[in-house]
Amino acid sequence: MVKFPKQVRIVEVGPRDGFQNEKMIIPTAQKIELIDRLAKTGLNTIEVTSFVSPKRIPQLADGAQVFAGIKKSNKIRFPVIVPNVQGLELALQAGVKEVAVLCAASETFSSRNTECSIEESIQRIKEILAIANLKTIPVRGYLSCSLGCPYEGYISPEIVAKLAKRLFKMGCSEISLADTIGIGTPHHAQTLIKTVVKYVPLSHLAIHFHDTYGQALANIYACLELGISIIDSSITGLGGCPYARGAAGNVATEDVLYLLNGLGIETGIDLNALVEISGFVGKLTQHPPRSKVTIAFGKS
Ligand code: MG
Repeated sequence: MVKFPKQVRIVEVGPRDGFQNEKMIIPTAQKIELIDRLAKTGLNTIEVTSFVSPKRIPQLADGAQVFAGIKKSNKIRFPVIVPNVQGLELALQAGVKEVAVLCAASETFSSRNTECSIEESIQRIKEILAIANLKTIPVRGYLSCSLGCPYEGYISPEIVAKLAKRLFKMGCSEISLADTIGIGTPHHAQTLIKTVVKYVPLSHLAIHFHDTYGQALANIYACLELGISIIDSSITGLGGCPYARGAAGNVATEDVLYLLNGLGIETGIDLNALVEISGFVGKLTQHPPRSKVTIAFGKS
């Protein structure tokens, strides 16, 4: 049975996930300008950066300066990624009120990308949660490779669901199921959601799709049919896919919003304000900006 949500919360990941996967390094002032502009569109969650070692991700080496430079608002959530307790402590010193952590659903991806096993990454997350929960800092858990891995291929939804359950029970407030390589298709995405909701309430699940094979919006639509109401996306589709050369990266926020507007699902975000920002992003990167939307949406 189709049960579209009335409202969707979009989590804008362009300044973090997008810039992290772009080859060029964007100047700090322009990152701050982008986030300040995004904050005026009605978006209520903007992932700002990562507090990681600059050696690992040089594109985000200025994370603390970016976080310090943006205009804060009580109405907008500005999470950052933290890889470990040291990252969390730096984030807390910077005044961060919400963080996100990463865990992979594939053992090979985990060891190649974070140099630890899944179990070791769960232990790191436990240490982060022990501090964050005491300070009532919400912690989002990303589960990468939720629909497939560049090394292992297909990943069983049961494996993903059991990891999602562990992260949720450990204290993660939200689990984002990430199709890191953009390999998923709509029925596969629905099977994943149907399996994970056996363990984690739907209202605590987010989806994170990539456009590698042009499937992101189709997958999002399929998950909306099941009632998913938190969607990750990136302004102008910022971010490539390191595992598929030349392929598109994160689904574009403008495209997701256009779909949601057409379905009559509320977000509180002004599409044309986003489109204007995509012109700014287009000048910073190679991404072609979207066109202004001049037609009105009818009620469906
Ligand atoms: Mg992504």
